[in-house]
Amino acid sequence: MPTYIVLLGPPGAGKGTQAAVISEEMGLAHISSGDIFRENLKAQTELGKMAQEYMNRGELVPDDVTIAMIRERLSRPDCVAGALLDGFPRTPAQAKALDEMLATLGGKVNLVPLISVPAEVLVERLGGRWTCRAQGHVYHAKYNPPKQAGVCDIDGSELYQREDDQPATVERRIRVYSEQTAPLIEYYRDLDLLCEVDGTQPIEKVTEALLQAVRSIAGK
Ligand code: ADP
Ligand code: AMP
Repeated sequence: MPTYIVLLGPPGAGKGTQAAVISEEMGLAHISSGDIFRENLKAQTELGKMAQEYMNRGELVPDDVTIAMIRERLSRPDCVAGALLDGFPRTPAQAKALDEMLATLGGKVNLVPLISVPAEVLVERLGGRWTCRAQGHVYHAKYNPPKQAGVCDIDGSELYQREDDQPATVERRIRVYSEQTAPLIEYYRDLDLLCEVDGTQPIEKVTEALLQAVRSIAGK
């Protein structure tokens, strides 16, 4: 049976940073809805152009569009063993749609690690985030600097600061998280799937805690 893990947490909690390591370690596809929107924007697809408006305002892309995009992504061959979802679901409607999608794929959500980080830390994290142009690898000017400023360690591409990481948009994104996404914490707690991890620890410590949680459900 495939394994599906949903990484939950506010913008800047460290979902992308952790998902890169955990997906590799567990042999799961890493699906980041934000990365897929940004790839579409780079390729100037209709989806990318439409999503950009919402992303620049710090708002959520409409559910129907986002759900269809993830349904297609989950049906690809690299997801046969399962997937680590980073940034999806973000609303109760998306969570219900995910349950239905996974049922048709013969699986279900197996674990929901919640990376908890207080709002004031998030602002500093996103303000110092540098993202790789080619593949979305993330760095932080202070907490996880690249070896050479402005250049990705992994693929050598240029690092840039995301438009939506400006303070005003970050504030909006955190509010959107509290209003629209935080209800999922109770949704998954009620299903006994939630596992809270202290995201204020150094990156390696958070990875350790997450790996421990993820390994404990492997094979169940
Ligand atoms: P998310 O995907 O949840 O939005 P990211 O993984 O992109 O978050 O992390 C946001 C920023 O915080 C990045 O600049 C990243 O390097 C940094 N970061 C991630 N985890 C930690 C941590 N545990 N301690 C300090 N900085 C971190
Ligand atoms: P992220 O890369 O996760 O920080 O997401 C960046 C932006 O993409 C968000 O602020 C939203 O505008 C959009 N987005 C990403 N995932 C979703 C989702 N599951 N539902 C709606 N919008 C999303």
